[in-house]
Amino acid sequence: MAARKTTVRAPKPLVAGNWKMNGLRGAKKEINALAKKLSKLDRLPCDVLICPPTPTIALLVETAKGSKVRIGGQDCHTQVSGAHTGDVSAEMLKDVGAKYVIVGHSERRADHGETNALVAQKAAAGHRAGLISIVCVGETEAERDAGKTLSVITAQLKGSLGDDFDPKNTVIAYEPVWAIGTGRTPTTAEVGQVHTHIRKRLVARFGEQGNGYRVLYGGSVKPTNAEELMAAPNVNGALVGGASLTAADFYGIISAYL
Ligand code: PEP
Repeated sequence: MAARKTTVRAPKPLVAGNWKMNGLRGAKKEINALAKKLSKLDRLPCDVLICPPTPTIALLVETAKGSKVRIGGQDCHTQVSGAHTGDVSAEMLKDVGAKYVIVGHSERRADHGETNALVAQKAAAGHRAGLISIVCVGETEAERDAGKTLSVITAQLKGSLGDDFDPKNTVIAYEPVWAIGTGRTPTTAEVGQVHTHIRKRLVARFGEQGNGYRVLYGGSVKPTNAEELMAAPNVNGALVGGASLTAADFYGIISAYL
């Protein structure tokens, strides 16, 4: 595809929390606590997002109203509506006030057999509804050990992104599968290597616009390692699982940007 020419500013980082299948209505106290901490800052140099389970999205959108916290979904169906028991459309997420949707998380790819092509369709469904789609990619431990990390990421990016995607409607999250929920992380140099590879692939495909995409790192990000991981080249924020469940830990990660 022909490269599009535009001047692109460095992307504003995004620190996003993925609550997975955790949190009842009482978890709104964490949103309140986070909102209170953020309200004390004159300027917030990153965007802040929490993606709770679907049943609490509407409540937490209300809870976060007027604050610097945005709320998103963890998955969406490709269709607007229809006979798809148990699924949720991007339009439904948008209707209750979500701003983002995560698609292609490795747990969905593994648990539900989601392919790159399906992930691309789900991301496009997010765009159709006016959401920003966070597209996850990442290698397994076996793939890393076999020296296939960069080729796996290249293939996932190729298949999971559409040619009409752009930095305003899409965020990339690099999440090595072996680092998710394990307490293990790649070294800063390894993170930088993969993120720089992702940036190059984005520029090769989208031209100068490729520099505008936010590329998040995810996998065992904690308050204690966030500053180092966020300082790696081409890292524009974090996608955080376990440490996003409490306001104290999540704020500790956001603090990498303060
Ligand atoms: C995740 O599942 O997106 C994730 C990064 O989890 P954790 O931070 O718990 O490793």
